[in-house]
Amino acid sequence: MDCANCGVCCTGWRVRLNALEQMTTAEQFKDGQFLKMVGNRCIFLDPQTMRCTNYDQRPDTCKRFTLGGDACRSRRREAGMETEQEAA
Ligand code: SF4
Ligand code: SF4
Repeated sequence: MDCANCGVCCTGWRVRLNALEQMTTAEQFKDGQFLKMVGNRCIFLDPQTMRCTNYDQRPDTCKRFTLGGDACRSRRREAGMETEQEAA
């Protein structure tokens, strides 16, 4: 399991910005306290690659979302994606 062609954690929910992020995020990328959405996906999600185009500057909320963690596996399961680690 990896993030390649996934992006389900960047789809279907709004990312809340902390106080500093609200001050430092450009207006075109935010909607009040949240990152802006394009349809049902985060404005920074590349719909072709399903990768974050702002990865190094992503909000704390995104940094706390752990690959392989409970929330990751739950979202992938809901999306009908594989949730187990590949055998080495
Ligand atoms: S849901 Fe998990 S595997 Fe998918 S992009 Fe997010 S962290 Fe990566
Ligand atoms: S900022 Fe990047 S990691 Fe966070 S939801 Fe948007 S696309 Fe995903």
